[in-house]
Amino acid sequence: MIDLKQNVQYVKGVGPNKAKLLHNIGVNTLEDLITYFPRTHEDRSKPKEIASLVDGEEALIEVMATSNMSEIRIGKSRTILKLIVRDESGACVITWFNQKYLKGKFKVGEKYKFYGKAQIKYGKVEMVNPVFDVENSSKNTGKIIPIYPLTYSLTQNAIRSAIENGLKLVDGKLEETMPEYLLKEYHLEERNKAMKQIHFPSDFEEYNHARKRLVFEELLSMQLALSGLKNKYDNASDGIAYSRDVHMSDVINQLPFRLTKAQLKVLEEIDGDMEKKKPMNRLLQGDVGSGKTIVSIIAAYKAVKCGYQVAIMAPTAILAEQHMQEFSKVLEPFGIKCELLLGGTRAKKRREILEELENGTIQVLIGTHALLVEDVIFHNLGLVVTDEQHRFGVRQRSSIVAKGNHPDVLVMTATPIPRTLALILYGDLDISIIDELPPNRKKIETFAVTKSMEERVNNFIRKNIDEGRQVYIVCPLVEETEEIEAKAVVELAEKYKSETFSNYKVEYLHGKMKQKEKDEIMREFKEGNIDILISTTVIEVGVNVPNASLMVIENAEHFGLAQLHQLRGRVGRGEYQSYCVLKYEGKSENTRQRMKIMTQTNDGFVIAEKDLELRGSGEFFGTKQHGIPEFKIANLFEDMETLKSVQSVVLKIENSDPKLEKEENKRLRKLVDERFTQRVEI
Ligand code: ADP
Ligand code: MG
Repeated sequence: MIDLKQNVQYVKGVGPNKAKLLHNIGVNTLEDLITYFPRTHEDRSKPKEIASLVDGEEALIEVMATSNMSEIRIGKSRTILKLIVRDESGACVITWFNQKYLKGKFKVGEKYKFYGKAQIKYGKVEMVNPVFDVENSSKNTGKIIPIYPLTYSLTQNAIRSAIENGLKLVDGKLEETMPEYLLKEYHLEERNKAMKQIHFPSDFEEYNHARKRLVFEELLSMQLALSGLKNKYDNASDGIAYSRDVHMSDVINQLPFRLTKAQLKVLEEIDGDMEKKKPMNRLLQGDVGSGKTIVSIIAAYKAVKCGYQVAIMAPTAILAEQHMQEFSKVLEPFGIKCELLLGGTRAKKRREILEELENGTIQVLIGTHALLVEDVIFHNLGLVVTDEQHRFGVRQRSSIVAKGNHPDVLVMTATPIPRTLALILYGDLDISIIDELPPNRKKIETFAVTKSMEERVNNFIRKNIDEGRQVYIVCPLVEETEEIEAKAVVELAEKYKSETFSNYKVEYLHGKMKQKEKDEIMREFKEGNIDILISTTVIEVGVNVPNASLMVIENAEHFGLAQLHQLRGRVGRGEYQSYCVLKYEGKSENTRQRMKIMTQTNDGFVIAEKDLELRGSGEFFGTKQHGIPEFKIANLFEDMETLKSVQSVVLKIENSDPKLEKEENKRLRKLVDERFTQRVEI
C-alpha cells in the first residue's frame, strides 16, 4: 500500500527547497500534492489555422519557419528576437523578449508547434513569448495542460512536474473509496484513473468525467457525515411529545399585529415537530426583519405551558438583552418567568438565577455562551433556541442540548442560504423558511459611492439627524484582530467628534470594550441620546432601533454581500424611510458588480445566490463562519446536479443502512471515518 501521508519532499524532483515552497501553498504530503487540483486547463491539443485566429485568442499553431531569426537590441541588455512562420493559411510573426538562449534554435524549413496568445494588428498576426515544441515532440503542446491555482514562487512547470511524479508514485495503487454499485449507477470513473485524469486528461470529456467523480466523492462524504449527526438525533426516540392541548393561538391572538402567512406556516411545522416524540431539529431561515423572534417566542410559550423550560442562546450580549425584552413583553402577561444570564452577570444575581433555574421557577433563560457553563443546570430543559447559529457551530449547539433530556432544538439564522446549499451546511436539520416580510415595510434605499462623494455623504448624515433620526457608521473590517478594528473605530470617532460632526453627539462601540460600557452606549443609542454610533460589526446581528434611518458602511468592498445585507437590516425597522450608503474603494469589476447588486435588491436570497456566484462556495461559506471544511474540488454553484445525485444517494442510505454497516457500504464507512471524525464533532 502506498503511504499517502509521506512527506512531499521525497517525491522525485521535489527535494527540501521545493518542499518548502509547496508547504506555503498547503501541500505537505504526497496526498496533498496529488489532490492539489488544477484551477483550469489550457487546450494545447488542437491546432488552428493562422488565418482563423482572432485577436487575444490563445491557440496552437503548426507551422514551418520561413525566415532566420532576427535580433534587435534595445539598450545594453535587452533583446527582441523575431521569427516568421507560416502554415497553409498565412504567416505569423513570433516575438520573444529577452530570451537570448533561443537564438539559433529554429531553422528555416523545419516544422514547429507554438502555443500562445495571438495579437492581431493591422491584419498582421503575432505571438509573443509562446511555448513551443519541435515537430514530433509534445512537451509543451499537443495536449491539455493543467494550470494550478496560486503557486507563489513556484512556477507552473515546477508544480506540474512535481504532480506528474507524485502521480507516478501512486499510479494504480489508490484505494477505491466508492462502492461498486455507486460506480456503476452513476457512471463514476474509477479512483486511480480519475486522479490522473483530473490533472492530465487527454480531452475535456475525460476531464469532466474525472472531475465529476471526485466532486461526487467529496460531496458524498460530507453529506454522509452530516447525515450521521442527524441520525443520532432521530434515533433518540425518547424526546418530548408536547401536549396537543396547549395552543399556540393563545399567544398569536394576543399579538398587536397579524402574523404573516409564512410565519404561520413555519409555526405549524414547529408545532408538528413539538408534538412528536422524536426531538425537533429544525433550522429556521428568514431574512433580517422577517420576524423570526416572535416565532421562537410562540414556540417557547408552548414548551413552558407544557411544563418545560426553554433556553435561548444569542451570539452577543446586546442581542440577548433585546431578546430578553421581547420575550418578557410577550410571555410575562401569561405568567411566564424569563431571565437573562450573561458573562457579566454579577455573582450574587447569578447564584439566584442558577437556583431558580434548577428548581424550575425560571421558565425561559436567555443568554450568551454563558449558558454553556457547567453549573448552569436546568430543572427540565425541553426546548433550545439558538439564534444566528453560524456563530456557534455544531459543538456548542450540542453542549447546550446536553443540558436537557433530548430537548427540541430550533436553530435560527438570518443568513439566507439557497435551499440546496442549506442542505449541505445544515444537512443534519430540517428546514423552515420565512420568505415574506411583514407588510408595510419600506424598502431601504441603497447607494454605493466612492471617496469623492464623502462630503455629500456627510451632509446626508447631517440631514437625517436634523430630521430627528439616528445614524450608524460601520467601520472598515480590514484586519482580523479585534484590537486593530477597535483602533480604527476610535480614530474615526475622534475625528468625527472633534471635526466633522462636532455639533452632534457621536459615540462608538467595539468588541474590546467592557460589557458594561457597551450596554450603556447601546441603551443611550436606543433612547435617542446619541446621534451617530460608530461601530465594528458587533452591531451586525439583531439590534433593533426603529429611529435609526441611515447606515453608512466604510470600505464596503471588504464585506461579503450577505454581511452587508445583514448590516443594512439594522435600519428600516421603523416607520421612517431608511437608507444605506456603501462607501467603497477600488475599481475592480467584481467590486462594482457587488455594489450594484446591493443597490438593486433587498432580497436576502437573491443576494446570497449572487454572493455565491461571485465569490465561489469556498469563500461564501468561509471556514471561520462554519465548522465545515472548505471544498477541495466541488463548487456548489456549478455542481448542483452532482449535489442532487448525492442527496438522493444519502436519502437511500439513510433508509437502508444509516450506520453504514452493510458490506456494500464498507468503503463509505471508511471514507467518512477518515475524513470527518476529527472535523464534525458530535
Ligand atoms: P428577525 O429576527 O427575523 O430579524 P424580528 O423578529 O426581530 O426579525 O422582527 C422585526 C420586527 O418586526 C420586530 O419588531 C417584530 O416585533 C416585528 N414583527 C414580527 N412579525 C411581524 C408581523 N407579522 N407584522 C408586523 N410586525 C412584525
Ligand atoms: Mg432576530
